[in-house]
Amino acid sequence: MKVLKFGGTSVANSKILKKVLEIIKNQNEQIIIVVSALGGITDLLMEMLSLAQSRKDNFKSNLALIEKRHLEPIKKCIPIQNQSSIISYLKKHLNELESLLDAIFLLEEVTVKNNSAIAAYGEILSSNIIYEILRYNGVKSKLKDARELIQTETYFEREIVNQTITVNQIKNYFDKNKSDVTIIPGFIAKNKNGVTTTLGRGGSDYSAAIIASIVRADLLEIWTDVSGMYTAHPKIVAQAKPIKKLSYYEAMELSHFGAKVIYPPTLQPIIEKNIPIVIKNTFAPQDSGTLIDNSINNENGEIVKGISHIDNVAMINLEGSGMIGITGFSKRLFEALSDKDINVIMITQAS
Ligand code: ASP
Repeated sequence: MKVLKFGGTSVANSKILKKVLEIIKNQNEQIIIVVSALGGITDLLMEMLSLAQSRKDNFKSNLALIEKRHLEPIKKCIPIQNQSSIISYLKKHLNELESLLDAIFLLEEVTVKNNSAIAAYGEILSSNIIYEILRYNGVKSKLKDARELIQTETYFEREIVNQTITVNQIKNYFDKNKSDVTIIPGFIAKNKNGVTTTLGRGGSDYSAAIIASIVRADLLEIWTDVSGMYTAHPKIVAQAKPIKKLSYYEAMELSHFGAKVIYPPTLQPIIEKNIPIVIKNTFAPQDSGTLIDNSINNENGEIVKGISHIDNVAMINLEGSGMIGITGFSKRLFEALSDKDINVIMITQAS
């Protein structure tokens, strides 16, 4: 069994969704598909939320844009006689979304609960639309709401996955359901009170990793808009080329220092279970992409696999004779940074 995760750019419009359809049709084993929101939709939703909160009623124009973006693939990928139910599903959800935003507009207040409820619309709509596209293009599949599979709990103001319940729910579901193709929205989950939560921005990779690790998939394919991890940032270095093979640790190092293609903390569950990952390009599916697993390949003497870089980093140098022999100043420094949610990527202390 394989898990295929399609990111936002891979499901952004009818043109690329037709490629996704081909990729899915070419599979010859049981697959689970995890989908992101249509590219840019989560940003639009979040922007709308802050407009409504600051009593700017132009949030309605985003709503119209969101409707247009979702109608496009419906109109282009589903036969006209089969479009009505998904269009009314879309309209119903957009009306709900509008009511939520009207309430935020009036109250001028956003709660964590509202924030997640609004952010979740992207994946709720994309998964339902993609399910209908598959259905009317000859791919029989089952749609499963991730909120019935992944449960979160709050831990220091963050949502973390409740492992025990999530493992049980996912195992139970896939033990009973042997559909060849199952489609699941990424990013969204539910807490024990049944309230919609999210796994954080970019969280669809994490959804896919959780599911792949629990069903013990043979492979996790991350379908994106580049042909794998590159030897350097391809927009900056013209000679950069995709890396064929990396170990988990090499991929983590590159990502830690700026490579954006995978976000290792979210992939931890599959690294633990030793499930290989392939990064593939939806726009060029014939490209082999990058395979990431637990073996290191230095065959051609290629010890350095790539160079990554990070923008917008500050270096802080804390020095002074008053620190000599004084305990606790590092604690105070790092606490101050952590209080402001500043991530520290490298630490060094000289004498
Ligand atoms: N749609 C969500 C985001 O843009 C999650 C994801 O795509 O991974 O953050």
